[in-house]
Amino acid sequence: MQRRQFLSTFGASLASLTFPSFVLAQSDRPRITDIRVYRMKTLGETGVMESAWAPGRPYMRRIGGGTVTEITTDQGITGIAPGMSPAGINFMKQILVGQDPFDNEALGHRIRYTNGAASNWRDVGCIEIALWDIVGKVAGQPLYKLWGAQKDKVPAYASMIQLSTPEERADTAVRLKEKGWQGMKIRLHHPEMEEDIRTVELVRNAVGNDFTIMTDANQAQSSGIWQPGIQWDYSRALDTARALKEMNVYWLEEPLKRYDYDGLAELNRATDITLAGGENNQGVQEFLTIIEKSVYDILQPEILVTEGIQGLRAVAALALAHHKLVIPHHGGGQLGTIAQLHMIGTWPHCPWIEIMNDPPISPYTNGFAIMENPPEVDSEGFMAMPHEPGLGVRLNRELMEEI
Ligand SMILES: [Mg+2]
Repeated sequence: MQRRQFLSTFGASLASLTFPSFVLAQSDRPRITDIRVYRMKTLGETGVMESAWAPGRPYMRRIGGGTVTEITTDQGITGIAPGMSPAGINFMKQILVGQDPFDNEALGHRIRYTNGAASNWRDVGCIEIALWDIVGKVAGQPLYKLWGAQKDKVPAYASMIQLSTPEERADTAVRLKEKGWQGMKIRLHHPEMEEDIRTVELVRNAVGNDFTIMTDANQAQSSGIWQPGIQWDYSRALDTARALKEMNVYWLEEPLKRYDYDGLAELNRATDITLAGGENNQGVQEFLTIIEKSVYDILQPEILVTEGIQGLRAVAALALAHHKLVIPHHGGGQLGTIAQLHMIGTWPHCPWIEIMNDPPISPYTNGFAIMENPPEVDSEGFMAMPHEPGLGVRLNRELMEEI
């Protein structure tokens, strides 16, 4: 039955039930037609920077760039997401083409079940994000409203990238505070603990107490590449944690190895500082263990690591039930961050969003430059949830080159 015929047959009863005008007949439901991955052109260079967690590999920071996934439907509505692995496209097409994007739980289950052998496990998150973007656009609602909004904006904290000197980090903190940012995360990667502590000391002295300082030791990394650098042991973690607490630091992130749950739990018991982590932990079960063992007080799952929107929502529900906070890792690509921004908009137990922002070489605006309507951190340090349907952001199509 076509939509017009459906409406003429049942129009009177629909009107009396005050159904919205976009009720879909079964035959009118959207169907997935294709999946493509695009490379986004770059718009310029802003300088070379070395990430604190990956010493020895400085690289040029660029405006724009990266890759995106696009899923198309027979109704002209498309969904976008971070770039999935091009090698996995044919596998995903076999599962998705011809299907209703609203059936995303069923489709997501099939992808999860079979994904390991066929493709990159991060692709699950990419596909789920694109499917939900379609659902939001068909419904005419931004995702955080569709899922149940809890707030319209969230404070963004500036996540530092480079190690730099204590003096330079203090200058950066002052500049960020002047622009309205309410908090920043400092990397703790100096060979000597005293230099890490001096960095936080100088920053705290420069910005005062009405500015939130987070810290990250990145000791639970190695998710794909060898990252030589300072390796902490338990006593360094304990001494650092106690010193940071004295300087009113909000949290210490990843102070020990990813699966040293017992060591982390012991550290958590021995110190008063809040421990955070989880960006490299995969799946809901690892977070269940983290909660059961009292490893972290703040869970930091990432949408492309913790198996997509379904996985992240499950972790958030676990956190809520156990009175933990959930503050996701930055999101694996700008469209991942946007998807998480919508999820954060539904969570009462998420007080911040992580935004990678280390100006002037690596400002957060670099990555978001692929969008026509990029999100912005306002003069009070907040990032608002997008108001347009779906993810609520539009790509600059002139930058898209099919891979
Ligand atoms: Mg981190």
